[in-house]
Amino acid sequence: MIKRREFLKNITAFSFSSYFISNTVYAKTAGKIFNPKDFISDKYLKDYIHKMKNFDRPHKGDVYISIEDYKTLISTLKRLKRIQNTVGHGHFYLLGLDETINLSKNYPRIGKFTKKELDFIENIFYKKSSTYGFYGNKPLPKITSKINKCSTIKIKHSYGNYLFKGPAFETYLKIKKEVGNKAVLTSGIRSVIKQFYLFLNKVYRSNGNLSMASRSLAPPGYSYHAIGDFDIGQSGFGEANFSVRFTNTPVYKKLNHLGFINLRYTQNNNLGVRFEPWHVKVKI
Ligand SMILES: [Zn+2]
Repeated sequence: MIKRREFLKNITAFSFSSYFISNTVYAKTAGKIFNPKDFISDKYLKDYIHKMKNFDRPHKGDVYISIEDYKTLISTLKRLKRIQNTVGHGHFYLLGLDETINLSKNYPRIGKFTKKELDFIENIFYKKSSTYGFYGNKPLPKITSKINKCSTIKIKHSYGNYLFKGPAFETYLKIKKEVGNKAVLTSGIRSVIKQFYLFLNKVYRSNGNLSMASRSLAPPGYSYHAIGDFDIGQSGFGEANFSVRFTNTPVYKKLNHLGFINLRYTQNNNLGVRFEPWHVKVKI
């Protein structure tokens, strides 16, 4: 059952994008007061919700990168992997673009980024994500944005993850105190480069399908992990921490009960992103 009213209510608060308005409709309404509610059909809603539920499958209308770009994606991804192996997982979470390029120049085992790869990285970053179905905001407008290591803190027993000092770390400490030690940080700060690595990997595994990748992972620049949000899981629950099954765990139930679940990507959100009950939104 589609909660149409609820969905529409969200849309009014949402700076709606051209996705909801076909070009013809747009042309027809030019010069008139536009009400997006008039143009969202039940069929659109049904298709949209079906797509979000089946986020990890290709759907009609999905946008793919070109075959040429797919080849560049593979070489870029391999280079980023060599960088991660060289600097270690922890340090890689915080890497900025300039530092990454310098590393590639200084370490023969990484090898310098080619011009094609750098152009590809830039194109992906500045491509409007709404053209392939991701409607979230972009908290990092610049590809060169850096994370100041002094403003971060490394979290013990979290596979090298970091959090920002201040609201993010305080929220995490509260969660640990009130939910208990079963609650673990599964993903903290992710710099532009870390997000690139994860996103390109997802696009690679989706056979170049940008839409499919972005249904479960924010494109670089669009992730709130770069400015404070983090993911919480239950220790020992592994990959299932990143599935709806997490909502059945005692950790999730406690988090929810204590009011920590202030979700960035709610069920049936209108941002083109699947439901993410493990993602904790931090108010900055
Ligand atoms: Zn997250």
